[in-house]
Amino acid sequence: MSILRLASNFFSGIFTRFSSPIKVEEKKVLPHTEQLQKPINDSHFINLNRENHLLHLIIQNAEEGFLILDNNNTIKFINNFLLRKIGVPGNFSEYINRNSIELIRFPKLYESIKELPYSHNDEIILNLVSDTTQTEFEIIIKNIAIQGENLIFTKWRDITLSSKAEKIGKELVANVAHQLRTPLTSIKGYAETLLDGAFDDPSVSKKFLETILRNADRLTNLVRDILTLARLDDTKNKLDFKRTNINQIIKNVIEQLGPLAEDKGVKIIFSHPESDTIIMGCEQELEIAIHNLLDNAIKYTADKTQIDITLKESEDKLQLSIKDQGKGIPQKDCEKIFERFYRIEDGKSKKMIGTGLGLSIVKQIVELHHGRTWVESLWGHGATFFVEIPKAFDKRIPLTPNTYQTDEKMQFLN
Ligand code: ADP
Repeated sequence: MSILRLASNFFSGIFTRFSSPIKVEEKKVLPHTEQLQKPINDSHFINLNRENHLLHLIIQNAEEGFLILDNNNTIKFINNFLLRKIGVPGNFSEYINRNSIELIRFPKLYESIKELPYSHNDEIILNLVSDTTQTEFEIIIKNIAIQGENLIFTKWRDITLSSKAEKIGKELVANVAHQLRTPLTSIKGYAETLLDGAFDDPSVSKKFLETILRNADRLTNLVRDILTLARLDDTKNKLDFKRTNINQIIKNVIEQLGPLAEDKGVKIIFSHPESDTIIMGCEQELEIAIHNLLDNAIKYTADKTQIDITLKESEDKLQLSIKDQGKGIPQKDCEKIFERFYRIEDGKSKKMIGTGLGLSIVKQIVELHHGRTWVESLWGHGATFFVEIPKAFDKRIPLTPNTYQTDEKMQFLN
């Protein structure tokens, strides 16, 4: 082999030794090439090591789990992601060549591995939940051959979140169908009774038509709330945040709901700091949240009572409270009422037109503003709903570009 070929091979990673006699002229350059050989050699190995190291880093930091077993279920490879996800401490290197059955206690995994030779498309897809971490996995199991050895390759994907979202979606559809059925059945029933002759009695027909109208309102509210929820689910963190005057929003809502309060003889008192409270927020959504809270307060407070709305401001956040003088909320329901479709099953709530979605919308909007919502209530003594929202976000929270306004007074993000 010529020295030039040898050198070229070195660069390509072929480390062949001299096997043919060296020509005289080549002997002259040999000492120089040998001098060159070491750095070439070293740099190549350094590169190989670097590549290995990079691959190793990528696999160990991948957001998927990898486990390779031999035919005796001995671990040939496992990455740290998988160890973490199944709740096993330590580093992958401690587990190489150990028996997998002792470590990864998923009997279904080993049953599937046994079935692998009989599978149609050379792979099996398996869903499992870890008892230790409650993580839900989708596992792909395949046969692979490395240097003549048959091994079992498994790839683990954490599907906990996506399967939770799927479950919520299914529950929502089932709940919506259920919620739609009641008013629709009622509208159909009353309309049929009217057509069957009740129409001829003016006092009865008026009552029936009012019931039909009430149920149509219920359907309209339900559709409105579902569309709001769908928009909020879709929006996630992409709300259009800008300088928002909370005082003004509260005043607007009081004006919108004023007639409803007047009908019940309810007085609304709004206490607030002298100057307007400005926050980084989404006006449209905040108005919906405050509207829902005040609407509930008016609905559930006793006739001829007072509702106190209090807005407080500190350096970095605002706190809004809405206090009514209704029956209040039993302690056991104080968290549940923020869940979708949850309604307290007492006589009063049942009679009220409602969707059971209002407070879940409030909670979601406030969370999108990085705030929190809660209620304090003593059963029989009214309820006070609280909303706390930071005036601006923490710098560390990634914001969409349109969140950054070019207003020179905008020091919120500092
Ligand atoms: P709804 O449309 O039924 O009012 P919400 O999600 O707004 O739905 O409220 C959920 C449940 O919480 C209501 O059905 C009611 O039982 C209870 N609730 C909400 N606000 C109040 C309040 N101010 N006082 C008493 N109960 C309330």
